[in-house]
Amino acid sequence: MYANILIQYKIKSLDHTFTYHIPDNLISDIDVGMKVYVPFGSSKINGIVLDIFDKYDGETKDIICIISKDLKLNKELLELGKYIKDKYLCTLISAYQTMLPSSLKVNNRKESYELRKTYIILNKEANIDEYINNNKRAKKQLEIIESLKDNKIEKKELSSSSLNILFKNNIVKEEYESYYRINKNNSIKDDYKLTDEQEKAYKTIKDTFNTNKIHLLHGITGSGKTEVYMHLCKDIIKEDKRVIILVPEISLTTQLINRFYDRYGNDVAIFHSELSDGEKYDEYKKIYNGEVHIVVGTRSAIFAPVNNLGLIIIDEEHTSSYKQENNPRYNAIDIAKWRCEYNNCPLVLGSATPTLESMARAQKGVYNLITMNKRVGDAKLPVITVINMQEEYRKRNMILSDDLKIAIDNRLKNKEQIMLLLNRRGYSTFVTCESCGYTYKCPHCDITLTYHKTSNNMRCHYCGYTVMFDGICPECKNKSINSFGLGTEKVENLVKELFPSARVVRMDRDTTTKKGSHEKIIKGIENLEYDIIIGTQMISKGLDFPRVTLVGIVNADESLNIPDFRSGENTYALLSQVSGRAGRANLQGEVIIQTFNPDNKTIINVKNNNYLSNYEYEMNIRKLLKYPPYYYLIGLKVISKDYDKASKEANKIINILKNNKEDNTIVLGPTTASQFKLNNLYRFQIIIKYKKDNKILNILKEIDYNYINDKDIYIEIDVDPIRF
Ligand code: ADP
Ligand code: ZN
Repeated sequence: MYANILIQYKIKSLDHTFTYHIPDNLISDIDVGMKVYVPFGSSKINGIVLDIFDKYDGETKDIICIISKDLKLNKELLELGKYIKDKYLCTLISAYQTMLPSSLKVNNRKESYELRKTYIILNKEANIDEYINNNKRAKKQLEIIESLKDNKIEKKELSSSSLNILFKNNIVKEEYESYYRINKNNSIKDDYKLTDEQEKAYKTIKDTFNTNKIHLLHGITGSGKTEVYMHLCKDIIKEDKRVIILVPEISLTTQLINRFYDRYGNDVAIFHSELSDGEKYDEYKKIYNGEVHIVVGTRSAIFAPVNNLGLIIIDEEHTSSYKQENNPRYNAIDIAKWRCEYNNCPLVLGSATPTLESMARAQKGVYNLITMNKRVGDAKLPVITVINMQEEYRKRNMILSDDLKIAIDNRLKNKEQIMLLLNRRGYSTFVTCESCGYTYKCPHCDITLTYHKTSNNMRCHYCGYTVMFDGICPECKNKSINSFGLGTEKVENLVKELFPSARVVRMDRDTTTKKGSHEKIIKGIENLEYDIIIGTQMISKGLDFPRVTLVGIVNADESLNIPDFRSGENTYALLSQVSGRAGRANLQGEVIIQTFNPDNKTIINVKNNNYLSNYEYEMNIRKLLKYPPYYYLIGLKVISKDYDKASKEANKIINILKNNKEDNTIVLGPTTASQFKLNNLYRFQIIIKYKKDNKILNILKEIDYNYINDKDIYIEIDVDPIRF
């Protein structure tokens, strides 16, 4: 017997299978999808078995051993890998690697992450009564024997000296039981009775179980989408099928996961980046063994090895975190569509602010549109005020307007909570010498350094380069260094100064690096340990705190000014999501938006809470500028240490593309990428806009392949990029 093995090798030209002989001792165990260890050249390497067959004429080597007998990629995931390779132009092995948690990745050597408990039991074959009679004085031993008569006892609970004697005399034996790191008690909470709107949404989706329908659930913030998901899960459990629920980020996951644990206890497996390798291994195994019906997790949970999939739900479908930003650059929504088709089950995309692409599909009837317009119970949408910061600047209010300060003060008096959003971490965004104009920049990337006051250093937010801040200009040696621009740290400082008795917490990437830190902050907010929460977009989505009644958006322009064709769409989503955090229960919410552009269309649409008006406005622009959803996009980057080489190759590539495309396909560039120099590499960019063009897709694969062995040039192709 022989097997074709896909080996774990980074080089694209080696991304195909090699044939190996299966030695007799492995034949009964080996199966397609398993991880094996094989000789390769002069070394040994891991690989995945892709197929097994009887006859082969060429010369082969023997497979050395099987690495994971009890965990393998199933048929569906093996197929899915081929789709990923094809759609995103990546290697097959990288597609499979992406599907596996790090503990199971093909290149991981560690044998097992399984945790086991050791128990002591009586040896049934021993003559226990005789032993008792002969050892009447050994009180401790007799006690142990007595206690083992009804049940097993964990080894560590028993005195080891007496136990050792019992072992020697073959009176007791060890028994092992594997256990999981995460263990939840069973459900404690009942379902809510659905509102009419929820009931309708739920019924519509339920009626399409066993079909491959895609639903867009457009429900305003607080309309109770999560509750609809939970009711659907109940039916999935009843039918003994499985459901995958994707959530955008870990900050969101904590609250949502707890809601699922409360309802479904041990029937839930979770998957997100804060789990340890061992925890991920355990959760993977629960899913693999079919021990849970519900999988909740971030992007990579879309690869959960469930069998009998009955439903996939993607919450907050508009978030960019469903797109992986490094190779393979897949979008979890595409993967979900593929899996739902494979399993003939429905997909639910939920959001208060769906992407233009999704809404356009819904309006065309490709997706089924379900709308929920009302908040649950008596909760009303917040009242939104827009503040013109130009006027505030004249009053020397550089960070917080008078209205926002007064509103904060009022909420503090009422013992209600306040959220302040600024989508920029750090203290100030650039540091400049006021005598000579010197500005600190990252020596590896072409961007200004951000000042962090807490740690008194300056950091590059791209590559992590860090220098201490000493206030002396490296150019003119004057002590006239000053920092400008606004980050969350500066807001925190000011807020603490203005409201000294308020309890303030900051939630951004800098305060949440430690494992469990998200959860701690969120618990703290839930338990009313904080009055004011300052944060980046991390606080904008999904979180549900009933006592938050005021949301202040410190600088709405921060997001509007990003040079990206999606900035209008993204700003609308960000602002209305964070507004949605206010007044979710019976307390009336209020939102204050500070901006230098009060007449901006997006801001006005947010104020009027008019998603559809914003949708139409943005769609018109997209149509004019030939952007998605009217055209598909591909971004291609030519990257090199050598500026001239990158530029030359980029020009060569663009000519090839222009000569091999359909007429209505547009090829733009090469231009310098928005992040032109990154980690000492120069990056040129080409953008392709197309409607239907197999020619160009094929030529892209060819171009990609042609540069495989080029050591100086790296080609990065991003299919359906989220940003450039
Ligand atoms: P969304 O996900 O649409 O923002 P949630 O599902 O978080 O909304 O619901 C908002 C709040 O309303 C939550 O606190 C939730 O527990 C509560 N809720 C949802 N549905 C119901 C219901 N049918 N009856 C009572 N409370 C509900
Ligand atoms: Zn840098």
